[in-house]
Amino acid sequence: MRATIEAKALEVLFTCGIPLSNTLETNPISLRTIFARYPHLILRFTDLSPTTDGAYVRNERAHAIYINRKRPYVRRRFSLAHEFGHYILGHPSSTSTFGSRNHWTEVQANQFAAFLLMPRELVKLLNRRMCSIAEIALWFRVSELAMAIRMDELGLRAFETRLVRFRYQRLRQSLPARKGGEKWLQERIIRDLRSLDFETRARVIRAFLPLQGKECAKD
Ligand SMILES: [Zn+2]
Repeated sequence: MRATIEAKALEVLFTCGIPLSNTLETNPISLRTIFARYPHLILRFTDLSPTTDGAYVRNERAHAIYINRKRPYVRRRFSLAHEFGHYILGHPSSTSTFGSRNHWTEVQANQFAAFLLMPRELVKLLNRRMCSIAEIALWFRVSELAMAIRMDELGLRAFETRLVRFRYQRLRQSLPARKGGEKWLQERIIRDLRSLDFETRARVIRAFLPLQGKECAKD
């Protein structure tokens, strides 16, 4: 089934005329371009419950995707690809919350999102060009964790992917126990950024911070 889902994601990229050649300077995967090919699909960035990333709703007459506009940019982008996956794979209506991650439709929609936003050949190409997972994630406009999981699947950078996953696991474990968890997470990320060179750090800060609030409404 994984292979079928990957083929469907590549078919979408191909149908929408998105090039995956090895001469690219910038990320060609524009969800705006993709959604322009599906005008009947309703798309809304809106307030959803704090535990909900997005939702896919279908009935006989319409298909609609709702995205929690208060999530950070990379999270919204991944959620959008995920909900789109429910549509392409013909799943029933669903809500993506913390508690629903293990349901088979959620697993498949996550796989689709990863295949769509981080196609195998492009990941391999960028892996040769760039020096850290953080940089590659920035190029693909996904979270460092999503990038590490994808690279791990492709057998790339075994040690570095493990480090990233371990760091996020530790963060997740320590968050619920703390008051003001998000502020603490921001501070922690800033501390991690100090290990990067100046230019990469500036780019990461621009793309990933602030983690919540005002910049989220821009889409
Ligand atoms: Zn879902």
